[in-house]
Amino acid sequence: MKRKARSIRKKLGKQKKVNAIRRLDDKEQRWMKDKDHKVSRQIVNFAVDNKVSVIRLEQLANIRQTTRTSRKNEKNLHTWSFYRLSSYIEYKANLAGIKVEYVNPAYTSQTCPKCSEKNKAIDRRYMCACGFKKHRDVVGAMNIRYAPVVGGNSQSA
Ligand SMILES: [Zn+2]
Repeated sequence: MKRKARSIRKKLGKQKKVNAIRRLDDKEQRWMKDKDHKVSRQIVNFAVDNKVSVIRLEQLANIRQTTRTSRKNEKNLHTWSFYRLSSYIEYKANLAGIKVEYVNPAYTSQTCPKCSEKNKAIDRRYMCACGFKKHRDVVGAMNIRYAPVVGGNSQSA
């Protein structure tokens, strides 16, 4: 979606169609916002259904900017505003009486939850010499559960 928008934007830029570019940008922003609303709703609903009291998210570096502010980052899908998604999650979680905590993401995807050895996942498969293996994202989630909370006021997960 973002790649396609970029190529259309380039074409419009050559033709100096400024208003058309603005409309395209707005459309793209609306699309991403809508996705963020849906995803955050699903996450919070899942938490409510499973009687979860705390949602933990990774505090990612340099996320405190919207996709709009940085032009050079445009090439990259990772510029999707994680900040917006996490603020939507926070908002909906708070309404449901669920707390959101941010944790230090250091090594959450590399540390073996069983023996604490560091390994790198190959594609999405995480494997450790101790015999532990799981999907990379499951390993991340397991480690986030025990990772130190940013800002300090930790509580047992
Ligand atoms: Zn291990």
